[in-house]
Amino acid sequence: MSTETTPSVRDVIIVGSGPAGYTAAVYTARANLKPLLIASSVEAGGELMNTTDVENYPGFPGGILGPELMENFQKQAERFGTEILFEDVTSLELEGDVKKVTIGSGETFLAHSVIISTGSAYRELGLPDEKRLAGHGVSWCATCDGFFFKGQDIAVIGGGDSAMEEALFLTKFADSVTVVHRRDTLRASKIMQERALAHEKIKFVWNSEVVGLEGDNKVSALKLKNTVDGSESVLPVTGVFVAIGNDPRVSLVQDQLELTPEGTIAVQGRSSKTSLPGVFAAGDVIDPTYRQAITASGSGCAAAIDVEHYLADVASSQAGIAEPATV
Ligand SMILES: Cc1cc2nc3c(=O)[nH]c(=O)nc-3n(C[C@H](O)[C@H](O)[C@H](O)COP(=O)(O)OP(=O)(O)OC[C@H]3O[C@@H](n4cnc5c(N)ncnc54)[C@H](O)[C@@H]3O)c2cc1C
Repeated sequence: MSTETTPSVRDVIIVGSGPAGYTAAVYTARANLKPLLIASSVEAGGELMNTTDVENYPGFPGGILGPELMENFQKQAERFGTEILFEDVTSLELEGDVKKVTIGSGETFLAHSVIISTGSAYRELGLPDEKRLAGHGVSWCATCDGFFFKGQDIAVIGGGDSAMEEALFLTKFADSVTVVHRRDTLRASKIMQERALAHEKIKFVWNSEVVGLEGDNKVSALKLKNTVDGSESVLPVTGVFVAIGNDPRVSLVQDQLELTPEGTIAVQGRSSKTSLPGVFAAGDVIDPTYRQAITASGSGCAAAIDVEHYLADVASSQAGIAEPATV
């Protein structure tokens, strides 16, 4: 006789512990759905663990440090009974009524519904000092950090629409914004190019890539290399915004769920419903546009409410209760 026991089927499993995942946990826990949140082994807390001051998350008039904010999120989710595992999900089987979630140790969990909130990753330059100077002059988000660069000379790296958008936004604060681009033409749309090229505060350094970041405690200059003749130069700036792309973390689901042309998980309208019943997605992994902590939280809340409705519908159809007739 086998001694193996079948794991019980939970109401909901949440994958990811950024603002979206923890907010979904708070709401599903308070709805008595006893969520299991799988937080990741080394990246628990998500993107805000990599930053210093967060000044635009409502409710903290004096600002709050990113890691402290995420600790608060975690405590609030735990307060209502969320079970948290600091492990990585290695595979998901999302078809059918019962979903199967496997973690790094090989252990599996079953659930009637899953919320995917794995976020997205800003592409990095890949330079040795980039991590050390992150939050100390190196940033990936003008909306988040532009305010800290009032009256400074800064740089934006990239040549696409988001680089032009970041550069134009940063002119509100900085004295000058130098766009550093690897080629001699921009990839950005014509309208964005025209706006950036015409702006008196924006300068361009063409055919150049960043090969080094200088500064002890804060960025003081960029080391540039000309992509045509190989010559090197130094650009003195106190801030650098890296705008070379963003990759939604969809590797667990890309063969199972529909994705958008931007590579995010496709959801139906304003909901968190994906292409499979019982599978919901929230936060930056569904968002090619806003990518802020508050929008990720709002999206996590929506996913939790969608899960509640889904589970209630499943329960009533199993009990044989007919849907109310539509007139
Ligand atoms: C440097 C920096 C500074 C920022 N500053 C601000 C700011 O000041 N204000 C603001 O509003 N926004 C800021 N942002 C943006 C903000 O951090 C994101 O919009 C927000 O964190 C997105 O939340 P999320 O929950 O969707 O994803 P994330 O925060 O990215 O969280 C995703 C989670 O999923 C987990 N995960 C991924 N794969 C797996 C897996 N296989 N198994 C288990 N877990 C997994 C990750 O480990 C992580 O915990 C900043 C971003 C960066 C990079």
